[in-house]
Amino acid sequence: MFRLGKTHMTINKLGFGGIPIQRVDISECKQIINQAKKSGINFIDTAVGYTVSEEYIGEALKENPHSFYLATKSMARTYEAMKKDILGSLDRLKRSYIDLYQIHNLGEADYELVFSENGALRALKEAKEQGLIKEIGITSHSVSVLDRAIDTDEFATVQFPFNIVENQGEEVFRKAKAKGMGTIVMKPLAGGALEDARLALRYLTKLDFLDVLIPGMADEKEIKVNQSAVEDDSPLTEKELADIKYLKENMGDKFCRRCGYCMPCTVGINIPMQFLLEGYLRRYDLETWAVDRYNSSDKNASDCIHCKECEPRCPYGLSISEMMVRVSTEFDKL
Ligand code: SF4
Ligand code: SF4
Repeated sequence: MFRLGKTHMTINKLGFGGIPIQRVDISECKQIINQAKKSGINFIDTAVGYTVSEEYIGEALKENPHSFYLATKSMARTYEAMKKDILGSLDRLKRSYIDLYQIHNLGEADYELVFSENGALRALKEAKEQGLIKEIGITSHSVSVLDRAIDTDEFATVQFPFNIVENQGEEVFRKAKAKGMGTIVMKPLAGGALEDARLALRYLTKLDFLDVLIPGMADEKEIKVNQSAVEDDSPLTEKELADIKYLKENMGDKFCRRCGYCMPCTVGINIPMQFLLEGYLRRYDLETWAVDRYNSSDKNASDCIHCKECEPRCPYGLSISEMMVRVSTEFDKL
């Protein structure tokens, strides 16, 4: 257990990412959260945008609402919209206050608005004064946005992706840490692209500028594997170091994290699914399964009209249109 930056929260190294809660029902959600508690996890991160996640978490914790520190976040950019979302989150999470409320995925385009008189930050500061939230944080996929936001001294925490194959956040995390802010690692398993969760988490626990890791977890087995990985403080073995080197060299930083921000596609292609199936085709020896899924989709990569409407929406700057050509070529040659 350690204190997250200068916040009031003393937490486990492993936190609970709320995205997968969208894929389970309420009774499964209760079981997962109970299991997380038993494992020593005491920090949950969710979002207004994760459909039912806040509601299910609130329901699961209603008997004991303060058994976890709760963090959530909103894409609201204006004062009024943020005010409304804070009240909505309190209602769905069934709490009189929220421990950490974050501006969700701030990009360059909305930066000035958020910090303006009519911006979301003013609503967060007011809510903090009223005791509705305890801490204000920020999440982003942009290094430059986070860098500027850290300089404002308005935030107690920063949240950014970091994992074996995505280390572009190192400098901003170090800067935030040096200022006494809490550092929260989203996508520690690269959105599921890193299959060996134990290796991925052990790698991150060795980096002193990272505080809490919040992988999404949808069952008991994942919770156990992840908790045991963060508790293992032995040095990385030769084999682990070699595996990390292999992943860094072979996955590069131009791969799809399945975040879905690029959607919807003009012609209805499920964009991240195309890259997922390509991964299965290449990496996991599941060729038949991948080909069946690809061919049975209503639309697949071969239907791409290369309009590039999706590309500005990808926070990782992927050349989706070109990648669709690569995927369809891979499948068509079989
Ligand atoms: S470039 Fe292709 S994948 Fe992207 S929106 Fe257009 S049709 Fe869809
Ligand atoms: S293509 Fe980009 S925006 Fe779309 S799911 Fe992949 S990483 Fe996310």
